[in-house]
Amino acid sequence: MKRFAIAIDGPNGAGKSTVAREAARQLGCLYIDTGAIYRAVGLYVRRKNVPPDDRAAVAALLPEIELSLRHGPDGQHVFLSGEDVSEAIRTPEASIYAATVSKLPEVRASLLDLQRRFAREGSVVMDGRDIGTVVLPDAEVKIFLTASVDERARRRYDELRAKGQDVSFEEVKRDLEWRDRTDSTRDIAPLRAAEDAVTVDTTGLDIDESVERVMQVAKERGYGKA
Ligand code: C5P
Repeated sequence: MKRFAIAIDGPNGAGKSTVAREAARQLGCLYIDTGAIYRAVGLYVRRKNVPPDDRAAVAALLPEIELSLRHGPDGQHVFLSGEDVSEAIRTPEASIYAATVSKLPEVRASLLDLQRRFAREGSVVMDGRDIGTVVLPDAEVKIFLTASVDERARRRYDELRAKGQDVSFEEVKRDLEWRDRTDSTRDIAPLRAAEDAVTVDTTGLDIDESVERVMQVAKERGYGKA
């Protein structure tokens, strides 16, 4: 089969990464989680004690950031200067740093080529906020995966509690709403559905049902088993 790209965009907590990972497994292609790359940049900025909204200071750090991805049987790992930071980028603080640095044009520009290079390595399912609109505008299949804010907050809350993090539902929901606002209102590459994207609303759906909907769209376009 010819090389293809499936772009999955949508707000936080819509289930993008779980759905994208499983869709990639079923399609036998690579899954690329672009949020992890923004998170790694956020983590680097945090470790340097640079305020994430200080455009000039963050831009000055970019040339020294060494990012790479490796894909193993347990999924994608992201490396920062050779260190595996796949776990360290998953804290609520890292989420805030990622959302803040991702507003900066220099950060987006520096990550654009990197993401396109990953997509050239083979067929991919890539998830993020601007994959269908900016990173891979020619993607063969574009999905906008969404769910109600309460459902997304509940999922994120359950996930964090399962990891032993001491958070309240209200806190998680507030953080989610702040990130929705930040991602949707930024000047460059704001979160929105591409015109040719198919919207899949996962409110009330479990993971399997969400994957099935996405695979259905892919199949209609000729990708995956009929
Ligand atoms: O998807 P995830 O929550 O890991 O992404 C972290 C943050 O990175 C998002 O809140 C968003 O601000 C940013 N991001 C982005 N563009 C992408 C992927 C993530 O701006 N393609």
